[in-house]
Amino acid sequence: MREAALALANEHFDSGAFVADLARRVAIRTESQDAASGPALQAYLADELVPSLAGLGFVSTIHPNPVPPYGPLLVATRHESDDAPTVLMYGHGDVIRGQDKSWTRGSGPWSVAADGDKLYGRGTADNKGQHSINLAALAQTLAARSSTPGGKLGFNVKWLVETGEETGSPGLAEFCAAHRDELAADVLIASDGPRLHADAPTVFLGSRGVANFDLTLNLREGAHHSGNWGGLLRNPGTVLAHAIASLVDARGRILIEALRPPPIPANVRAALAGLAVGGGPGDPEVDADWGEPGLTPAERVFAWNTLDVLAYRTGNPDFPVNAIPASAKANLHMRFVVGTDVSRLREQVAAHLAARGFAGIEVSLPVVMAATRLDPDNPWVRFTLASIESSTGQKPVLLPNLGGSLPNDVFADILGLPTVWVPHSYPACQQHAPDEHLLLPVARQALALMTGLFWDLGEAGAGLPRRLRA
Ligand SMILES: [Zn+2]
Repeated sequence: MREAALALANEHFDSGAFVADLARRVAIRTESQDAASGPALQAYLADELVPSLAGLGFVSTIHPNPVPPYGPLLVATRHESDDAPTVLMYGHGDVIRGQDKSWTRGSGPWSVAADGDKLYGRGTADNKGQHSINLAALAQTLAARSSTPGGKLGFNVKWLVETGEETGSPGLAEFCAAHRDELAADVLIASDGPRLHADAPTVFLGSRGVANFDLTLNLREGAHHSGNWGGLLRNPGTVLAHAIASLVDARGRILIEALRPPPIPANVRAALAGLAVGGGPGDPEVDADWGEPGLTPAERVFAWNTLDVLAYRTGNPDFPVNAIPASAKANLHMRFVVGTDVSRLREQVAAHLAARGFAGIEVSLPVVMAATRLDPDNPWVRFTLASIESSTGQKPVLLPNLGGSLPNDVFADILGLPTVWVPHSYPACQQHAPDEHLLLPVARQALALMTGLFWDLGEAGAGLPRRLRA
């Protein structure tokens, strides 16, 4: 029976029905960064997803965003039994700007076009293609179940689809906090972002956090002639460079204790053992002597913190003049793992600099997105990995967290759910750029493995061990 469900998924893909569904969705110009996108965002939910979900037995409600004027959110529920486990699924219907004139492949952003293994179109990877795979997998699982007694899925499903992810998910946290009961579930299973490599089915359990902050040193009004004043006036560019060097050394090692992560947990280190990062076509060469000494490249990007200079300005780099500049400013950027407390980052950086004699440097309040990571030993992780392995015959890659960032704290912290992400894209998918595409063989495999996962959830159903549902 499981085999039959996977075969149905493959037939669905091979018939072209999946690509046809995705084509309709890609054609709706849901560019949330465009202030005029409101009607398109509404249409994506109301005219596209609600009918598709209704066909699978979901009851949908479209809610206005609690933070006007941002786009609406969709909650759809398919309830079978109070005794069955409930899976919350998430996707985002908005896309990054089309950048219509810059496409060199396919037929531009708003109509899908296949070229070899690649299906081009805006949102094919991020995120319309990914939630379309999960919707299609649910449909194929239901179709396979319809020949069993009762024809049930064996678990309850809720969908949450937002339309503002590409503008930082405005209102998502507020919405989830206000709709905790409506969104209550046993686990989040969602798809976004890339696999580690195209041919490696991947599961990740959270994401690193981000903290951006500025360092500014204003020493006086205006620049002063260096012949008359050099040697007499402190140079803010030189001072700020040394201040930054006290935070992170010339090899990228973080020197300020408060911004360093706790030791890497043994099960995180074990999950990352042997994983190669980069090496794909077009990838830059990984620097062997950069970052925390003693860590593998995979540990550096998935299990450690990084502190980087994004931009640095003193004087006018485009038109330098022989003068002592008045000020210097640097934009600093930190990616951090779970266990790093950034709640007092501003005070801690200011105290570190003051203790080293760098008086007068202003530290801005950081803009923060939280870090999350489900314990790799959580039973939902084992369940998902085992299911994917039995569908694909491949041992999936387990990333304790993504190197990048997602609003996963909304699910992990506000809704209190174990979070299991199964990405269906790959690192070179050009998401956020022209020529965004989905790899057709990856999509086909993903549709089958998600069908297998839903099948296994249904088999376990009410009998899922209590510990899995706790
Ligand atoms: Zn995106």
